[in-house]
Amino acid sequence: ELMNGSEGDWLHIDIMDARSVPHISYGRDITRAIYSGSEKPPHLHLRIVEPERYLAACRNAGGGLITLHYEACPHLHRSLQTIRELGAKAGVALNPHTPVELLEDILEMADLVLLMSVNPGFGGQKFIYRTIPKLQRLREMIDSQNTDTLIEIDGGVGRQNAEALLRAGADVLVAGSSVFGAADPVAE
Ligand code: ZN
Repeated sequence: ELMNGSEGDWLHIDIMDARSVPHISYGRDITRAIYSGSEKPPHLHLRIVEPERYLAACRNAGGGLITLHYEACPHLHRSLQTIRELGAKAGVALNPHTPVELLEDILEMADLVLLMSVNPGFGGQKFIYRTIPKLQRLREMIDSQNTDTLIEIDGGVGRQNAEALLRAGADVLVAGSSVFGAADPVAE
């Protein structure tokens, strides 16, 4: 369900597996994405192993922005290139333990960087506050490289921290659980 009508709003869909069963949630969520009826191409956040195997399928399912996890991609440059060649925007997600500095040489390939601000796969967690200095460092990197990369914060976002995150340089905030339909993108 999309909130507000602003230009930056996205439908954010988490595509997850059980790390060992890559196909299970994939098929269902992708199918839902196709029939979501959203006017805006959904943003697919791939929280799966070997995401490069599913890029064309994600694009065919209508994914307008496809985000891969840095931790899941040994050939990230190539995977981002593939997403762009498919005609979608390319995003890179970082888990809480992964430093933003690792993106130094890939930033120009990323239309969006997503910082996980809780640990993926465990619901109801509190926002990890180290995300804020991390976000500030990423903002500086993007500004100094002068790329158009957007910063998205995913996990534990709500009224209590949204303003601080936007002030620290976030472009897109994801609030809500990973369940489709509960996604609640707020962007300014
Ligand atoms: Zn997500």
